[in-house]
Amino acid sequence: KAAHKITLVPGDGIGPEVTAAVVSILETAGKSEGVTFDWHTYDAGADAFAKTGEYIPKALYDSIEQNRVALKGPVTTPIGGGFSSINVTLRKKFDLYSNFRPVKSLPGLVTKYPGIDMVIFRENTEDLYIGLEVMINPDIAQSLKIITRKGSTRIAKSAFDFARKLGRKKVHAIHKANIMKLSDGLFIKCCKEVAAEYPEITYAEHIVDNTCMQLVMNPYQYDVILTENLYGDILSDLCSGLIGGLGLVPGANLGAECAIFEAVHGSAPDIAGQDKANPTALLQSAVLMLHHIDEPVVAEKVQKALEAVYAEGKTLTRDVGGTSGTKAFADAVIAAL
Ligand code: NAD
Ligand code: MN
Repeated sequence: KAAHKITLVPGDGIGPEVTAAVVSILETAGKSEGVTFDWHTYDAGADAFAKTGEYIPKALYDSIEQNRVALKGPVTTPIGGGFSSINVTLRKKFDLYSNFRPVKSLPGLVTKYPGIDMVIFRENTEDLYIGLEVMINPDIAQSLKIITRKGSTRIAKSAFDFARKLGRKKVHAIHKANIMKLSDGLFIKCCKEVAAEYPEITYAEHIVDNTCMQLVMNPYQYDVILTENLYGDILSDLCSGLIGGLGLVPGANLGAECAIFEAVHGSAPDIAGQDKANPTALLQSAVLMLHHIDEPVVAEKVQKALEAVYAEGKTLTRDVGGTSGTKAFADAVIAAL
């Protein structure tokens, strides 16, 4: 069996630590099933710029184009200036319009909300994230929010197709169309039109600020959350908090041509380089990737080993109440394989 060619972007901050952990787990899990990986590794962001003079080296673009699948660690984006987000740029470049983020409680991990199981579909290519900003004058800044029928309809279809395939019962479109009557108005109009093609799935619309309150008071009312780029970004972190934090929640950036798998979290500069990061979010992203490349047996094996480590509860990282480091946690998952 040929090795899977996968573009690997370790990223910066905690990126290299969680990536190393995930690669070692995947290598071990694959070996016993005769599955091997050929990792094509690239820097991106400030590190890449220092080495190549490009924030996203052309070789990285070419690699993703050829392999059509990438596993990516977080990349730091400067605040209030500097270069545009590498993450947003890659999603736009490869038209990865569907950001799929499953939020599911891990067995054995005690949190305020046991048994959470919801998924977020975040539109990934438009909204305020297109980065069209200008200073009208030194005291007035303008950012453009773009919402299109095409973008809204295709993310709605992704959410409803997923719901139909997996037997999910409800889709909530999250918006602020009471204020942004045109942009968010168009978004929910498209969602409603798509919903009509899926009569077996309950469709509802919630306003985003209320949704934040509802999620904290009673998250169980949600099943599939369908939303725009900015609201999806914010709600993803909120939902991560419901199940134990950003160290846990995986994601997939999906398009018609290729896919980039990455955690919801960022580069966590506060804990970088200290062997403290939880690799679970990136590991679960890798599990999504294994399904995507049609390796369900290895995927299940990794997920079972991960869940066994949580169920046992002896080797957990600090973010979820344990005392272990990134490496010790990865070793425990490998032992559980
Ligand atoms: P963050 O997600 O990096 O961190 C928020 C908090 O969660 C921090 O306290 C951090 O220690 C904790 N945390 C995050 N991941 C963790 C993990 N795996 N294990 C344990 N704790 C974890 O968010 P931030 O601090 O707002 O952003 C830092 C940088 O990351 C910024 O430059 C931002 O632009 C970037 N970012 C990148 C991506 C991406 O690459 N896709 C996503 C989000 C943020
Ligand atoms: Mn985010």
